[in-house]
Amino acid sequence: MEDAYGHQIAYLRVSITDRCNERCHYCMPDEVQEWLPREGILSYEEILRVIRVGAGLGIRKVRITGGEPLTRRDVLTFFRELQSIEGIEDIGVSTNGTLLASEPEGEGISMAQHLVDAGVRTANISLDTLDREIYHRTTGRDYFDRVLRGIEASRAAGFEKIKLNTVLMKESSEDQLVPMVRFAKERDLLLRFIELMPVSTQDVLHEDRFLAANTARRILEESLGPAKPRPDFKTNGPASYYEFPSMDGQLVGFIGAMTNLHFCETCNKLRLTCDGKLRPCLGSYLEFDLKEVLRRPGVSDAEIAHFFKHVVDRKPKEHDFRNDYAPNRKMIAIGG
Ligand code: SAM
Ligand code: SF4
Repeated sequence: MEDAYGHQIAYLRVSITDRCNERCHYCMPDEVQEWLPREGILSYEEILRVIRVGAGLGIRKVRITGGEPLTRRDVLTFFRELQSIEGIEDIGVSTNGTLLASEPEGEGISMAQHLVDAGVRTANISLDTLDREIYHRTTGRDYFDRVLRGIEASRAAGFEKIKLNTVLMKESSEDQLVPMVRFAKERDLLLRFIELMPVSTQDVLHEDRFLAANTARRILEESLGPAKPRPDFKTNGPASYYEFPSMDGQLVGFIGAMTNLHFCETCNKLRLTCDGKLRPCLGSYLEFDLKEVLRRPGVSDAEIAHFFKHVVDRKPKEHDFRNDYAPNRKMIAIGG
């Protein structure tokens, strides 16, 4: 599928829940959450059908996210079925890491291992800091040790790639940047620093908190020496990679959604929210109600495919984050 601006759409990011066991202030700032009612959430069967139709249209990569996807009941059954969809070549998961070391089926087998066994190739694990206190303050939960155990369980499980996602925030992350790079290097993880995006309430995303990707890189260079751009290194996403020769060429990615004016040029993504909206862009108000189509009696795969193409045709040239964007949904309800 190709949109009006030449973006080749091959990647579907699928949120399977709006629920989460953490409360990151930049994602879902209020302690009291109103979750969507169960019938408002797509069933696994419905999600798998959408992905199957998408695969027929050229979707090759799927990343499962949320909320926290690993909190949804029977999530392993879902991953096992996902693996068997013809055409899907790459399955990933985005997780806060808190449940990766858990043993959902007992028998000494970790969630991470089950995911690898179900064909999941990449784990994107969120970790903003190595400071337990800051972790607790940022996520609302004292789960730092659990995440470290989750990272170790993932390394042992043998994912093809483990990426560490760190949201940049003034004050909480500036002195964490170098330790995070060292942490990633010691464990052979691909670290990416992500600019804070306006997908939560404005007070949290106040300018005072914003730390630009270029500023973060300069802070790193002060300690680690000059970084070399690596435009040749690509991972199917919007990160720009740099290597640090002083650290044996350690690669670090920067996701500058707010400051990189070329950010949207290579976008190949659509998003499916857990309540069945197909979104052509994270930073746009546009969303299209696929659930309503899916639940029409007797709806055919061809009708669903037609809907997909309709959404792709409306994919904007670029996101609206720089245009005083005021989110109509929080990140948790879209799926990051
Ligand atoms: N619960 C999982 C997790 O935390 O990785 C998956 C969902 S979460 C919404 C996906 C990613 O979005 C995480 O890496 C998180 O840090 C990031 N995220 C959430 N809110 C954000 C914001 N306002 N700006 C930038 N990234 C954000
Ligand atoms: Fe939950 Fe992930 Fe959002 Fe944090 S970023 S509240 S872990 S969904």
